[in-house]
Amino acid sequence: MCWLCEYNKETEAKNLTKFLSDNVANMGTDQIAQCIHERLEEIDPNGEGHSFEQVKEHILLHVVIPNVKIAGIIRSLTGLMDRLETMLMNTAEDDTVVIDAKNVGIYLKVVNEVMQIYKTGNSNRLMFSDTVGGKNSNGADDAST
Ligand SMILES: [Zn+2]
Repeated sequence: MCWLCEYNKETEAKNLTKFLSDNVANMGTDQIAQCIHERLEEIDPNGEGHSFEQVKEHILLHVVIPNVKIAGIIRSLTGLMDRLETMLMNTAEDDTVVIDAKNVGIYLKVVNEVMQIYKTGNSNRLMFSDTVGGKNSNGADDAST
């Protein structure tokens, strides 16, 4: 059982979720998972479900907070863009370089998708977390202001 899911109503889990949401745009998933993992080792040394791998899985698969999800999608598409970038041209047998029109088409489509995410304005959520903290229905303290 994932610690952060199991104790999601507890203050410490809420604080760590806020930390995740606030930093997802500026830190890599591994870095954030490491920070949260270390914190959980401190506060619940005998607890289970908070290994580095489990925290990372929580971030990648369990959390559906918009800015966390959007960051994940952008990272995934960026990885795809990088991969496609190396596949845009082919060298023919006579050493002439030929553009791979099919891959260029896919590449441009992916670039467009990334741009769409930024244009929707949802990227504001990516930059300025407002989905966790004091505005939830449980009336938790808003430490973000
Ligand atoms: Zn979880």
